[in-house]
Amino acid sequence: MAEEKHKQKLGVALVGLGEYSTGQLAPALQETNHCYLAGIVTGSPGKVDEWKRKYNIANSNVYNYENFDSICDNPDIDIIYIVLPNGLHAEYVVRAAKTGKHIICEKPMAVTVEECDKMIAACKEAGVMLSIGYRLHFEPYNKEMMRLGQQKVFGEIRSLKAYNGMSNTSGWRLDKKLAGGGPLMDVGIYCLQGCRYTTGMEPVAVTAREGNKTDTAKFKEVEETIYWELEFPNGAKADCMSSYTQVANVLRAEAENGWFELSPGYNYDGIQGKTSEGELKFPEVNQQALQMDDFAMAVKENRPTPVPGEMGRQDVKILQAIYKAMETGERVEIS
Ligand code: NAD
Repeated sequence: MAEEKHKQKLGVALVGLGEYSTGQLAPALQETNHCYLAGIVTGSPGKVDEWKRKYNIANSNVYNYENFDSICDNPDIDIIYIVLPNGLHAEYVVRAAKTGKHIICEKPMAVTVEECDKMIAACKEAGVMLSIGYRLHFEPYNKEMMRLGQQKVFGEIRSLKAYNGMSNTSGWRLDKKLAGGGPLMDVGIYCLQGCRYTTGMEPVAVTAREGNKTDTAKFKEVEETIYWELEFPNGAKADCMSSYTQVANVLRAEAENGWFELSPGYNYDGIQGKTSEGELKFPEVNQQALQMDDFAMAVKENRPTPVPGEMGRQDVKILQAIYKAMETGERVEIS
């Protein structure tokens, strides 16, 4: 029966049933057309019954971190989605690749470029596809930023502004080893992505500085706020900020003949956009459903994903350059 209903759909197993899986991905998987929630991998036995009941998950599709590798024998699972703290992404993507299943890994892809290289190599060796959970590539307002910028609708971009900050951070996000850094790794990555996809260019250099800490005990291991400036090959500069205490959410480009911006630009919903010619209007979508459906289609059609591991690696490389610039106070070139 379950098989009949889903036979055209690929089965997804979520690894890590924290806030993002619970609040966004599992509900989104109820709206997908090409994949469905088939399995779970959790270290919390107390969560299993509720998830099984709520999402009609078979007992044989429930795993823990010890028996996770035996997913290789489960025909119900086609895609493994890693939704763990950043510092665990590399280990679990490499393990997932060995099961022969295709993989989605949450952002940031990992905490070092070396880890990204291992992840990409493991997927290549196993012949599986790897994509990163960059949901905004499937969101209409952000896609419009890509179109307006990359097609130079308002002419050459001269400058950008990208700020993303939130409050109420706790847990592993404050632990350097598990998070890889502070707000830059968690929310600043959206600013970097926004600047990259709006310009369609790769930054060539960066300068950065750490903001003041208002709570030195809480932000003992990671920055509380970071400011950085990216330089693009056409001379455009991007003024960026991310913070765990200053709330902000904007992506704006100034071009030769006008401007265009999103504010808020990075949320799950309620994104709004304007240009120097007026308001942008697009339908509200379920970003995560579109993202997962696109990956399922990429697997089915054996075509590349628009958000591959290589894109995640490039972001991690630039994030590391931003931290180097912050730590040294020097302008760091990105090779
Ligand atoms: P969370 O803390 O709510 O959940 C993390 C899960 O990992 C929990 O279920 C926890 O039990 C499990 N876990 C396993 N080993 C752990 C360990 N050693 N320490 C801590 N937790 C451990 O976090 P989250 O907000 O769900 O984030 C998970 C991942 O998803 C992160 O990489 C984050 O960047 C990403 N994320 C992406 C988006 C997005 O919009 N794409 C949004 C939120 C989170």
